[in-house]
Amino acid sequence: MTVEPGDLVFTHFGLSGPAALRASHYVTVSLRDQPGALLRASIDVEPDCPFEQWVERFRRARDAHPKRRLRTELEDHLPERLAQFVLSEARVDGDTQLAHASLAQLEAVAHTLKHLELPITGTLPLEKATVTGGGVNVKEIDPKTMQSKRCAGLFFAGEVMDVHAHTGGYNITIAFSTGHTAGTEAAFYALANRERSPMYSTQGTDPVGPVP
Ligand SMILES: Cc1cc2nc3c(=O)[nH]c(=O)nc-3n(C[C@H](O)[C@H](O)[C@H](O)COP(=O)(O)OP(=O)(O)OC[C@H]3O[C@@H](n4cnc5c(N)ncnc54)[C@H](O)[C@@H]3O)c2cc1C
Repeated sequence: MTVEPGDLVFTHFGLSGPAALRASHYVTVSLRDQPGALLRASIDVEPDCPFEQWVERFRRARDAHPKRRLRTELEDHLPERLAQFVLSEARVDGDTQLAHASLAQLEAVAHTLKHLELPITGTLPLEKATVTGGGVNVKEIDPKTMQSKRCAGLFFAGEVMDVHAHTGGYNITIAFSTGHTAGTEAAFYALANRERSPMYSTQGTDPVGPVP
């Protein structure tokens, strides 16, 4: 089991937001290793509010507003449709007035809020990915120059390599830093090997100019 803290967005195509993007890596790897595996996400709707605190919230609301419906109370804390979904998953009738809600019902709702289970069927296709795994193995790249160890004069940067990180700026940083190194080293390589390059020798003119 992997825990990914962060915001979550419920969309028409499924889960999104930072926590979903991070967790999607594990989904991809799990389904690659075990095609057809039954995966589930367990969502803690409000991690800062422990189970006991949810129950206490409901009990206090019951004392203060006994005629209020459970659905209305939950909608004070959650978006309407999420509140409805939580109640249906908890198998508690949202129209129940708080005064008539048993402790077992309140605890069932609190438990569901801490462990909202959803089946995971897959991730969106590669074209929709923000970050991708796979690519050129970093063991085949010299990290000081980003040059291929297998093919001289070939330099790599960014997503074309098999590197990926959490969202939040790390992937851009990988792209910029490896791009800077690869670009600089490629230029040095071109200058050092200009005599051997067909680009310069066949033209008769030197587009780069004298080596500094
Ligand atoms: C919606 C979205 C949000 C993101 N948010 C974040 C974020 O918040 N933080 C973070 O760290 N990362 C984020 N990323 C990931 C980050 O943008 C990428 O990791 C980074 O841009 C990779 O840079 P790159 O230069 O390797 O590849 P790219 O930026 O994909 O650049 C590759 C370029 O090559 C061009 N190209 C492709 N094929 C050819 C070809 N045959 N000939 C010529 N040109 C070609 C493409 O048109 C493209 O311009 C996000 C990505 C997306 C899509």
